[in-house]
Amino acid sequence: MYRTHDCGALRLTDLNSTVTLSGWVQISRDLGGLTFVDLRDRYGITQLVFNMDTDAALCEHARKLGREFVIQVTGTVQERSNKNPNRPTGDIEIEVATLKVLNSSKTPPFTIETDTDGGDDLRLKYRYLDIRREPLQRNLRFRSKVTIETRKYLDQQEFVEIETPCLIKSTPEGARDFVVPSRMNPGEFYALPQSPQTFKQILMVAGMDRYFQIVKCFRDEDLRADRQPEFSQIDCEMAFVTREDILNTFEGLTKHLYKELNGITLPDFPRMSYDDAMRLYGSDKPDLRFDMAFEELNDLGQGRGFGIFDGAQLIAGICAKGVADQWSNKELNDLTDWVKRPQIGAQGLVYVRFNTDGTIKSTVGKFFDDEALRGWGERFGAGPGDVLLVLSGETDKVRKQLGELRLEVGRRLGLMTPGVVKPLWVLDFPLLEWDDDTNRFYAMHHPFTAPKPEEIDKMNSNDREVLKGLHADAYDLVINGVEIGGGSIRIHDRALQSKNFSLLGFTPEEAEAQFGFLLGAFEYGAPPHGGIAFGLDRLCAVMNGQNNIRDYIAFPKNNMGRDMMIDAPSRIDQGQLDELGLDVRVRE
Ligand code: ASP
Repeated sequence: MYRTHDCGALRLTDLNSTVTLSGWVQISRDLGGLTFVDLRDRYGITQLVFNMDTDAALCEHARKLGREFVIQVTGTVQERSNKNPNRPTGDIEIEVATLKVLNSSKTPPFTIETDTDGGDDLRLKYRYLDIRREPLQRNLRFRSKVTIETRKYLDQQEFVEIETPCLIKSTPEGARDFVVPSRMNPGEFYALPQSPQTFKQILMVAGMDRYFQIVKCFRDEDLRADRQPEFSQIDCEMAFVTREDILNTFEGLTKHLYKELNGITLPDFPRMSYDDAMRLYGSDKPDLRFDMAFEELNDLGQGRGFGIFDGAQLIAGICAKGVADQWSNKELNDLTDWVKRPQIGAQGLVYVRFNTDGTIKSTVGKFFDDEALRGWGERFGAGPGDVLLVLSGETDKVRKQLGELRLEVGRRLGLMTPGVVKPLWVLDFPLLEWDDDTNRFYAMHHPFTAPKPEEIDKMNSNDREVLKGLHADAYDLVINGVEIGGGSIRIHDRALQSKNFSLLGFTPEEAEAQFGFLLGAFEYGAPPHGGIAFGLDRLCAVMNGQNNIRDYIAFPKNNMGRDMMIDAPSRIDQGQLDELGLDVRVRE
């Protein structure tokens, strides 16, 4: 028997019992007469003590233990004289009688502690050492519980877990596909799924009624902290449902997960249209941990001789409450530089400072007297101590820039309070997005998303502006400014689906070649249906107030899409290439 207890189990109630523990040596401290070893496993750390007076040879042996040696000890539980209140096992220690080294270890390249000194790539290369660290242990256990609770909840709601294939057909829509050459069909390729979208819709046609899958999805996109080339979704589809049914079911799942895992009871989630989210927060995923909604000032700002405002499509601003004393001109100039950075791209920043002594200071004082500026203040409900930050220009750009500024101000003022959870449904996204470069429309969500029923007629318009204004029955769940998931009511009518493909620039032949299987299925009694997918990695991170999804994935890729541990991707040999019928010239 390797152990009677794990390294997190023993307490004062176990005093004087004889126990056997196995684990890794976290650290060994030699204090002359006594040697202390911290023994670690997944469950915790227990202090071992070796006494020179009792057994000198054993003590010598213990002194030689290196970090990460795997050992087994037997000994007696005793009360510690120097207790460690930060550890559940901190009241006791094991006075060791026998020690067995189960395996030695090289000195690890970084410290296996909560705050490690290891850089990102090093930690990924030695991921097995990184995962020994408590935060990663905790994260992977958290993720496991999320999937288990998800399955429990969805099972109770009659969802059936169904696997869909990983080798599928490449389509030009959406992100870039990862492709896999087919040996048996030379010159032909499978694609790895960006999502099981069409399969889950086919399962609705097939009468499965409620489907879910915790599934790997693959997208060949540039990477960021919250993106990985392969990631996991909680993917779902339901038949004979309205949007309301789907929102309620998945709001229920989210509440269930927060309750079971974080002990938080969430109130009903507010809802906001996409148009309002853009108008009020300049983002389709507003962080509602703080308000600071936009106000528009065109009527108050134009016609006063200030050329920049007069020529602007939109003048809009935010109000930072109570910062007038805290923010010197230096801070405001710094924010001005911040919005002028190329990543944000604003031309400049107008500010109005309502000082606590009642005076008003503004960068546009030449054009607007105090009375005019007080009018601005009223619009924001601003009072003494508040500062208005105002941008102007093209509507879409101003909203985006002001949205970024709002978040930056929120960060600087510490308004994104850790532990606060602010979910939000964003509804009624645009159906289509025009792209100037390729001179065509793309589906904002995906080509299977249904338009709002009352707008279907407008799909026959030839006016690009009318088409741009179409809304989809699509929704996103946002938590604390992070998009957790999205979905839509689908088109289930063949003619409407064909119409949508034609708006997306597909000829009927192209639509048939790409999606003929789905259009065909729609001819055999497709029920009304809809669904949603949550990003599992992101959900886990957000539930823990983190934004790096890598910390919730056991074996993630680095920023270049490399697996540093197994060293992938890698070249394959000529024989393999020949067998696949691939003629690959590698540029050195
Ligand atoms: N397949 C979609 C996605 O991956 C989600 C959905 O519409 O259900 O974003």
